[in-house]
Amino acid sequence: MAIDVTKRGGSFLIAETDPNSVFTPEDFTEEQKMFAKTAEDFLHNEVLANLAKTEAQEAGVMVGILKKAGELGLLMIDVPEKYGGLELDKATSMLVSEIVSKGGAFASTFGAHTGIGTLPIVFFGTDEQKQKYLPKLATGEIVGCYALTEAGSGSDALAAKARADLSKDGKHYVLNGEKTFITNGGFADLFIVFAKINGEEFSCFIVEKDFEGVSAGAEEKKMGIKGSSTVQLILDNVKVPVENLLGEKGKGHRIAFNILNVGRFKLGVGCIGGAKLAFDDAVKYANERHQFGVPISSFGMMKNKIANMASGIYVVESMSYRTAGLLDEILSPIDKNAPDASKQTMKGIEEYVTECSIMKVKGSEMLDYVVDEVVQMYGGYGYIAEYPAERHYRDSRIARIYEGTNEINRMLIPGMLIRKAMKGDLPLLEAAKKLQGELLEMPTLDESEPEGLLVEENKLILNVKKIALLTTGVAVQKYMTKLEEQQGVLGDIADIIMEAYGMESARLRTLKLAAAKGEEEAKTAVDMTRLYIYDTVGKVDLWAREVLAACAEGDELRTMLVALRRLTRYTPIDTLHMRLDVADYFIAKEKYEV
Ligand SMILES: Cc1cc2nc3c(=O)[nH]c(=O)nc-3n(C[C@H](O)[C@H](O)[C@H](O)COP(=O)(O)OP(=O)(O)OC[C@H]3O[C@@H](n4cnc5c(N)ncnc54)[C@H](O)[C@@H]3O)c2cc1C
Repeated sequence: MAIDVTKRGGSFLIAETDPNSVFTPEDFTEEQKMFAKTAEDFLHNEVLANLAKTEAQEAGVMVGILKKAGELGLLMIDVPEKYGGLELDKATSMLVSEIVSKGGAFASTFGAHTGIGTLPIVFFGTDEQKQKYLPKLATGEIVGCYALTEAGSGSDALAAKARADLSKDGKHYVLNGEKTFITNGGFADLFIVFAKINGEEFSCFIVEKDFEGVSAGAEEKKMGIKGSSTVQLILDNVKVPVENLLGEKGKGHRIAFNILNVGRFKLGVGCIGGAKLAFDDAVKYANERHQFGVPISSFGMMKNKIANMASGIYVVESMSYRTAGLLDEILSPIDKNAPDASKQTMKGIEEYVTECSIMKVKGSEMLDYVVDEVVQMYGGYGYIAEYPAERHYRDSRIARIYEGTNEINRMLIPGMLIRKAMKGDLPLLEAAKKLQGELLEMPTLDESEPEGLLVEENKLILNVKKIALLTTGVAVQKYMTKLEEQQGVLGDIADIIMEAYGMESARLRTLKLAAAKGEEEAKTAVDMTRLYIYDTVGKVDLWAREVLAACAEGDELRTMLVALRRLTRYTPIDTLHMRLDVADYFIAKEKYEV
């Protein structure tokens, strides 16, 4: 049976997408907007209002804010109704994550509780475990966290040394070991802990704070997100009832990695919130701050930064909510009362693991770019703690490190797609082979002038997709099963794939926006899309050259480079003046609003 590729994760590389089928931030319903309003009010009244206290780690303040979020229903969005939750769609869940992430340290606290601290039970718990813990996690009566990392095992999480041994009477597992960098660990009531049964079978356990032998180390002194709790968790002969084994014995890796997948899409969207707040602060500051007798926002170089930051946010926002829509599309037909509903949900999310990793990497790198430019726009004041730019800069840096470092995610992006292709779930390699044949033929000259909105840009996007296929295909042919060892090649391919998704997501959203509002109204969105695409094609060309040169030589390489040149050729547009227009739009608004 032929595969409907449009319903598969990663299909954006080989299928064309109808703009009307894509979910965009302009599609939020009244109900979703109401939730956003609750989150926005909560952010201002609780999180930002208490920032000085949380940054100083005043005892009880952060946990109090988390519990307040529980009272408002913000912790129960992803919890099934059957267990006291709201079980809302992923778009709402992401929207709330985006908004509360403007709180920096609170974003980590919130994510550790609602995501990695709660979802393992949602997806892998038995009915008894769900009944016992989920209603309390959903309301914030108890706080959750996730303990995977150890001093000797971070990225290589399966090398954990913590162990679990079954007691003689078979009633308990006795846990011993130390976990490092545990978010919420200082005040959590429930720990999702990974340990190896008999030192061999990597498994997952639900551990309560009050179990004898559980203790937390001192708070780490961190670069940023200072208001969040990050501690060591010490397990000293902790007797964990056998019924608290989560999922199957020896299958802890399924929980660890699947939960991180979910965490990644939320982290990506959270980065948008952080970037918007920093952007808004910077644009307001640039209008207020005068040098040489004029606001610094009137200088071309400042405008350049404003336009680039806004385009970056726009692209990540477009790809994130497109992914939210894809997830909702695959998850909404699942019967929530079916006995295997959690399993099906997990499988649905797994379909889009590549997109989730893309969001994590693109979101965190866009955020770091934005906060760095924001510090620059504040000048010396950007370096002074009294001004917000300094905190934005410090708080953002962690996003590239946790939930799988960006290096690990860069390897996963092509790796997961290639695995899918090898399994026959996505006809990527066939498409790559066909493309190689096409590229070797003499091109037919197309002299026609393209007409229509973003038509020329679409050609570039289609070419970037072809480049992604070409480089992936060539790399697989050259290195076969040893491709994993070629991290430079994988990193470049990951970047090309990510940009294909980003450029296309922005274009689809902009077309939809222009169709709804008219081209004139959508002008800034059109400009940002064009800016991003023209800025990125040059980078794609460089990455592709590197990959091809690492995979081929002599005549073969020369032939491929000729083909690549055809794919990356374009007539430049006046991006410099376009940036000024984009910047003027946001300078007038003093905030990121498309
Ligand atoms: C503030 C904070 C909060 C955290 N919260 C939690 C939490 O709640 N729960 C939890 O379990 N953990 C948590 N962590 C841990 C976090 O997930 C790890 O720090 C992260 O996974 C990286 O592991 P590591 O620090 O051991 O770095 P390492 O794994 O030692 O990595 C060091 C560098 O080597 C690179 N590297 C590693 N392996 C490879 C490879 N195969 N190929 C290429 N490059 C590689 C990495 O990308 C990185 O740049 C937190 C960390 C911090 C700082």
